[in-house]
Amino acid sequence: MNETSTPSQSDRSDSPSAPVERIRTRACLEALPAYVAGKPPVDDGRRRYKVSSNESPYAPIPAVLEAATAALTAANRYPDMGVRALREALAARHDVTPEQICVSTGSTAVIADLVRAVVDPGDEVVYPWRSFEAYPIIVGAQGGTSIRVPLTARHEHDLSAMAAAITDRTRLVLLCTPNNPTGTALSDEAIAGFLRQVPQDVVVAIDEAYREFHEPATVADTTALFRDHANVILLRTFSKLQGLAGLRIGYGIAHPRLARALTAVTIPFGASAPAQAAALASLQPDVCEELDRRAAALRAERDRVQDALAADGWDLPRSQGNFVFFPLGEHTGQFAAFCDEHGLVVRPYGTDGVRVTIAEPEANDLLLEICRQWRSQA
Ligand SMILES: *Cc1c(COP(=O)(O)O)cnc(C)c1O
Repeated sequence: MNETSTPSQSDRSDSPSAPVERIRTRACLEALPAYVAGKPPVDDGRRRYKVSSNESPYAPIPAVLEAATAALTAANRYPDMGVRALREALAARHDVTPEQICVSTGSTAVIADLVRAVVDPGDEVVYPWRSFEAYPIIVGAQGGTSIRVPLTARHEHDLSAMAAAITDRTRLVLLCTPNNPTGTALSDEAIAGFLRQVPQDVVVAIDEAYREFHEPATVADTTALFRDHANVILLRTFSKLQGLAGLRIGYGIAHPRLARALTAVTIPFGASAPAQAAALASLQPDVCEELDRRAAALRAERDRVQDALAADGWDLPRSQGNFVFFPLGEHTGQFAAFCDEHGLVVRPYGTDGVRVTIAEPEANDLLLEICRQWRSQA
């Protein structure tokens, strides 16, 4: 950083000419953890791979890019607030009505809408931990109380502990499958058994951001679970396999009353016209075929990496996501720095472990190489 750059916000407010600031922000914000975004690679001239944010390594598909670009020509107009065309297409795909599709600026924003719709200050939200780091921020910002249920020793949801954590203050339970960052997934039977223990007035959200990377033969039939349970909402995104992370669009599939509640609280005109157009184009059959090929290729790469690591003696949780998790405990920071030195920008989580996105084969090969070096020097 340039030492002589302009003063920071706090420097300015400390200066004698700054106005005295007496505003009040909500007390619940004091305890909010910061969202740690995947680090961008530093530009020191050497090739680095950013495998810290579970992004798609593929460039946008031309037909999707064209649709988004065409929508830009009407950027002086507000987007369709009702997101009509996309919701109709998604409704047909999921066999629900368009009113049951709740679109927002990424599924993170849908989760925020959901929390705003069902959580009053002091209400409890139960979720596994470690899991998606946006959960505690969203719950805390709403004044809700996070009930974090530790993962099992095998880095899976502890569903019986989660069921036991439900009280009469619980309004919402979040399930994340495959779980970010550990990659472990929930089976049909496991989710169904859990749902039988949840009171019908408690909403259960199933966050499926990585669904397409799960082995298709064994992926949970969450659509059937949704149909059988009026308190279930499914969360999907276009950020991961569809590669639209930078355009911000995702959706929920909800039963009518909850869908109306989400629509009531969502920020109007959230999803931009280019994002809506790109998402709609992503549902066209030929684009879906290409996305299926990409999903298969990334699954094959993930399995290749996991098999190679297992052969080298690594004991990692079996991931069903587009990433692998190294539960390195106190060595987490050291391993992340080691990866960084060798050209891979990864995502460390405190003293829990390191998540590495499965990317282009060269990046995956580099990961295997770094892992071998790490073990040989350890
Ligand atoms: C990436 C991700 C999402 C979705 O992110 P958006 O870009 O906001 O759609 C949701 N849940 C989990 C667990 C994720 O990792």
